[in-house]
Amino acid sequence: MASTMRAVRIHRCGGPEVVTLETVARPEPGPGEVLLSVQAAALNHLDLWVRMGTPKPPLPHTLGSDAAGRVVAVGEGVHSPAVGEAVVLNPGLWCGRCERCEAGEQSECERYHIIGEGRSGTFAEFVVVPAVCCHPLPEALDWIEAAAFGLVFLTAYRMLFTRARRQPGEDVLIHGIGGGVATAGLQLAVAAGARAIVTSSSDAKLERARRLGAWQTINYRNEARIETRVKECTGGRGVDVVLDTVGRAQWSASIESLRKGGRLVNCGATTGGDPPAALHRIFWKQIEVLGSTMGSQADMRGALRLAAAGRVRPVIDRVFALEDFAQALARLEAAEQFGKIVLAIGDEAREQARRHDGEG
Ligand SMILES: [Zn+2]
Repeated sequence: MASTMRAVRIHRCGGPEVVTLETVARPEPGPGEVLLSVQAAALNHLDLWVRMGTPKPPLPHTLGSDAAGRVVAVGEGVHSPAVGEAVVLNPGLWCGRCERCEAGEQSECERYHIIGEGRSGTFAEFVVVPAVCCHPLPEALDWIEAAAFGLVFLTAYRMLFTRARRQPGEDVLIHGIGGGVATAGLQLAVAAGARAIVTSSSDAKLERARRLGAWQTINYRNEARIETRVKECTGGRGVDVVLDTVGRAQWSASIESLRKGGRLVNCGATTGGDPPAALHRIFWKQIEVLGSTMGSQADMRGALRLAAAGRVRPVIDRVFALEDFAQALARLEAAEQFGKIVLAIGDEAREQARRHDGEG
């Protein structure tokens, strides 16, 4: 085995120009860790935030949170996964010893971090990760889909089922369809039998969402008020749950679109983090505002069960070779994608990439 590998790295934070493909030493797994041969790695908005230095990673740094690959070496004390096993990552990092970890709420760990942010990432031919982050690859997913699964399905599963406690018969409003978490949220909502209303500024993205099972679509460029349309769709009642990744731009529409006693669950603020709180509306309508970040091991297993049963499958926007990382990141930054942008790194994944051509 060669002792080097190629990795997409930064030596300082900044714009697209700081990202380079380099040949570096292959890492070795320490106690409790495994070395993966990365087949495929998916992009997330987090990669752009880390590149820009919020949060600031240890430098130099390899980008990338999501991956699927095969275990090629295990460190001391690792009984599972075994060498040769195909795995998909839960990209979270937690201490495993604190009160919240012991309660099974890994993403509430005081020392919570994410692979590709708190430690070296997955845009590389090999990556060392904690053994506990590795989950068996469901047969229903290929390498490309598995790489695209972890962060967004983990996040959306926790938002919808664990935090917002979505019940049978409840309607869900999802903003900014086309984004990774929003699209995963739509698929999970549809798999659970929910009527999902989605919003976007792009008719093409709304059309894609309808094909994924969206019940109603709202182009907010053409509609003066999202909440008016939501009320019309729901017979004046409003939705039970809003799944929000965008923050400020749709905050007021979310509050007004909810039924009394409804739940607003938020995992991001791509349009701004300080919307007018509208407390008078929140208390009068008895709305629950719920924050959510990543997810627990139980959330990951729940999402993987739905994938294994063929009820959800990541939407692949486009697949790039590792050496075309710059084009992949530029596409993410331009927000042109519908679904996930993936780097095919291993030979098997590069072969599978052809099957996904033209999907996006
Ligand atoms: Zn902990």
